[in-house]
Amino acid sequence: MIGPARRYADLSTVEAARVGRGDPVAVIPAGAIEPHGPHLPLATDLIVAEEVAARAVAAAAAGEGAGGEVDAWLMPALGYTKSDEHSSFPGAMWITADTLLSQVRELGSALSASGFGRVLFVNCHGGNSALLEVALRELRRRSGLRTFLYAGRANPGPTELGMGIHAGWAETSMMLHLRTDLVDMSVAEARIPTGVAGCQHIGFTGPVKFGWLADDLSDTGVIGDPTGADPDTGARLVADHVATVVGALAEIAVFDPARGVRGADLSADLSADLSAVAAGGGPR
Ligand SMILES: [Zn+2]
Repeated sequence: MIGPARRYADLSTVEAARVGRGDPVAVIPAGAIEPHGPHLPLATDLIVAEEVAARAVAAAAAGEGAGGEVDAWLMPALGYTKSDEHSSFPGAMWITADTLLSQVRELGSALSASGFGRVLFVNCHGGNSALLEVALRELRRRSGLRTFLYAGRANPGPTELGMGIHAGWAETSMMLHLRTDLVDMSVAEARIPTGVAGCQHIGFTGPVKFGWLADDLSDTGVIGDPTGADPDTGARLVADHVATVVGALAEIAVFDPARGVRGADLSADLSADLSAVAAGGGPR
């Protein structure tokens, strides 16, 4: 159930030209096709990312966020992405980090050529997040785009010891809300990596991160506890994601970090020298 309209790929070239003459915001869902244990489909991250992005685009375009209507457009999703950490389980359709970075970098040129000046990635696969942060700067520098990433936030379940990062309580609840036909709770089992949970410093989000593969942590691919998942929790988590993205889109539409910089009262001479350096001319 993809939300109503504002799907950029459904436009004709004439309509795309009209969009490009405004100040549109491209919203690109980023998911993955990767194993999510025996109870969830491979496309879990892709389904959640597309639904959150579609609902947020529709709401922002209807002016449901602060600041009025946002000219946001839902772009085709990034589906094959960097999920090599799950490559030992059947069904992982991953591409390398180099390939994904190249794809996103080249996409930036196309977005810019069609009139987009701003792009937001709505990412629901943790393995993409670090790479997309690098991509934000690549696109900013190479294509002049203003770039943004929503990477969600951890929603640990009550029984997960903070380890619910994959196919656990939160993701399973969201899928019970979005696509219950693809969830089989009769085979949902917890896998909590207590060796990690017992560390004070090392963790998925702690001060010291570590390189992990899914089979370091789990024999089923599940990292978390899906057994207490329920659709009402899923509806709430999806609504929270959508509300955050809608709020962010209102800010993104007018975002200009150079506006109102404090401490910019430089002397006239120094200011002129800096302008000359920035223009490639060097100091006077
Ligand atoms: Zn996932």
